[in-house]
Amino acid sequence: MRSHLPRVLIVEDEKSIAELISVNLRHNGFTPIWSEDGDTAQREIDSVLPDVILLDWMLPGQSGVTLAKKWRADPRIKAVPILMLTARGDENDKVMGLDAGADDYITKPFSIQELLARIRAVLRRRAPEQVAESVAVGALSLDGSSYRVTYAGQSLKMGPTEFKLLSFFMHHTERVHSRSQLLDKVWGDHVFIEERTVDVHVKRLREALGEAGTMIETVRGAGYRLTVSSQII
Ligand code: CA
Repeated sequence: MRSHLPRVLIVEDEKSIAELISVNLRHNGFTPIWSEDGDTAQREIDSVLPDVILLDWMLPGQSGVTLAKKWRADPRIKAVPILMLTARGDENDKVMGLDAGADDYITKPFSIQELLARIRAVLRRRAPEQVAESVAVGALSLDGSSYRVTYAGQSLKMGPTEFKLLSFFMHHTERVHSRSQLLDKVWGDHVFIEERTVDVHVKRLREALGEAGTMIETVRGAGYRLTVSSQII
């Protein structure tokens, strides 16, 4: 569902290398963001989660390995692929980098083509699961590959966010999901999205569902749940 250019956070203290990488990334359909140390990188990540992190090993302050470990332990960041950059070519270093949580490892000097290929590879490996499965709950069916939703055989129209939201509810029925959990699971990264947004989309989803709209229950003070029990069969 993502249509933006993949954001690549470059954590590199050598300006000339960072600039070279940035220029090439920009020419190849990526949005580069440059941070020269761990603290600046952390602020970038807190503000907008990147799609991939290029992390230099030798940095002023916290080292690349320390940062990789820290980010891997953070639930919000842990799914972001990390590609470690280093001047070291030692096998032990490579193992250490991968143990710290890096997805891949590239030794300086490297060719830009190789770097781009590695970035594309980690992005493919970590690509979020597409909503490709079909699921049925009571008389409600959702087909992820054709983006069709039907209720009792009748086709229903809805926007892409309502579709994703419904898909999530249908894959996790009878459980109460808080607004913040829904933002995490459906929107992916909710730094700039208010929890009220969830209410707006749930309202739209109910409208789109018509008489099946009652299947989505509001649980006061807790969140929302999709249930089969209130469905009129
Ligand atoms: Ca360095």
